[in-house]
Amino acid sequence: MSAAERLRITGGTVYDPANGVDGETRDICIEGGRIVERLPAGAPTLDATGMVVMPGGVDIHAHFASSSCNHARRLVPDEHAADPAPAPVLADGAPARSGTGGTVPSTFTTGYRYAGLGYTTAFDAAVAPLTARHSHSELDDTPCVDGGIFVLMGNDEYLLRQIEAGERDRARDYAAWLLRAAGGYAIKVVNPGGVEAWKTGQRNVTGLDDAVGGRAVTPRAILETLADAANALRLPHPVHIHCNNLGVAGNYATTLASMETLAGRRAHFTHLQFHCYGGGGVEPWSSAAAPVIEYVNAHPEVSTDVGQVMFGPAMTITADAPVEYLLHKSSGRRWTNIDLELETGCGIVPLAYKDKAAVSALQWAVGLELFLLSADPWRVVLSTDHPNGGSFLSYPALIQLLMDRSVRDEQLKRVNPKLLAGSALADGLAREYTLGEIAIITRAGPARLLGLAHKGHLGTGADADVTIYSRDPDLARMFSTPRYVIKGGAVIVEEGQLRRAPAGRRLHVAPGYDEAVLRDLRRHFDRYSTVSFDNYPVRDVPGEPLAIG
Ligand SMILES: [Zn+2]
Repeated sequence: MSAAERLRITGGTVYDPANGVDGETRDICIEGGRIVERLPAGAPTLDATGMVVMPGGVDIHAHFASSSCNHARRLVPDEHAADPAPAPVLADGAPARSGTGGTVPSTFTTGYRYAGLGYTTAFDAAVAPLTARHSHSELDDTPCVDGGIFVLMGNDEYLLRQIEAGERDRARDYAAWLLRAAGGYAIKVVNPGGVEAWKTGQRNVTGLDDAVGGRAVTPRAILETLADAANALRLPHPVHIHCNNLGVAGNYATTLASMETLAGRRAHFTHLQFHCYGGGGVEPWSSAAAPVIEYVNAHPEVSTDVGQVMFGPAMTITADAPVEYLLHKSSGRRWTNIDLELETGCGIVPLAYKDKAAVSALQWAVGLELFLLSADPWRVVLSTDHPNGGSFLSYPALIQLLMDRSVRDEQLKRVNPKLLAGSALADGLAREYTLGEIAIITRAGPARLLGLAHKGHLGTGADADVTIYSRDPDLARMFSTPRYVIKGGAVIVEEGQLRRAPAGRRLHVAPGYDEAVLRDLRRHFDRYSTVSFDNYPVRDVPGEPLAIG
């Protein structure tokens, strides 16, 4: 059906937490790609009797459309050979593309598989501005999902110079210009200062007050500058923070210190699981999920996604090049390192999380503890940091772990318990997520945190993105094969089969700034960059930017 057509979804059990609907039988009406209050009698119907109806899934943090992903794809030809993805047979003979799967599927396959999972919106969480043009091209080829990119800042030379000079206002204007130049949606900071240090003899920073490259810039100042910039610019999503010391024993202290630094300011701390470890020095690794989630629970200005580790193959892709170097040395796996001039870096290491490996088992437990000890599902939402902690295809298995204690406890018996002493999960956590809570952490919550007023709910005026599941006692199966998926009013999955693959919309922002920054920026580009200032911005980002404010 075309977006202009009508559809009444009848008889389903609706979970629409943003509108206070928690498992009520009611009709959902669609017209012109939006949810509408009512339809005239005789409108086409889709019988969802006995089925579960939710808004389309919203992925707040994944890596699927960056130049880094392309490097990752190149690292694992064996994965492509093992997971060929034939072109789906679409309705009306519409053209479709074959591709490959694995931990980093090819572009079209990524879109098809997101749709097959009931996800209709996804953000690539780490794009170097210099490579934003590439990301937009990848998004052009990733159908079925509306999407956007988070733009990497915080290790970029121009920003560091402004902080060093005490020019916080100019730093804010620059951040606004850079978001527009990249066609971005949010400000992302990865290991503030640490990636810049990686390019020098310093190699990394370890504390919030370390001098970056011997200059008067610290991770703390970077965090404050970018958090304030995002909030002053009234961006729909606050600064999206990957803290210092990812993956290091004892790093929970850095995580708490980062949160305390930004106390009272809106901020999103991503893949929190990778930042909640105790131990260090002579002490063994341990879980420090409890003190961190206690802080999150008590501070409504803080939001997080978990970055759950799932057992199986993964691909670590991050701008945090120094941590990838450590991972490469400790795992012995092949790797890629990329330094981007004046901006950031990138490291990639393929990895497998094994339940018999003590650190993997600890990471798995820490993620589940964050979910199960969270007091507010609206602020602690689901991610695996795809494909870092596991593929997005593992979300259904994760939902099952959250909803079914017996499955969780069975898995807990099989994992290596060596580092689980003192873990709340090992001590027994009885909580089981409800369907309503799952609807929050997979769609309503991420949409709200992203400031997407038209996503993640089924109220009048919302985008008609709807996922309909057949009930199944096997929750992993239920969530991995939705019966119907509707995207912008079009039924794209019918009876579990992908039938349509419309292009997604681009989600981006265009904050205002004082144009006085341009003269200084041009001088900076002329002096240091191999790309000319005029050629730098991405042109023709599709779609209108979201209204701000
Ligand atoms: Zn990530």
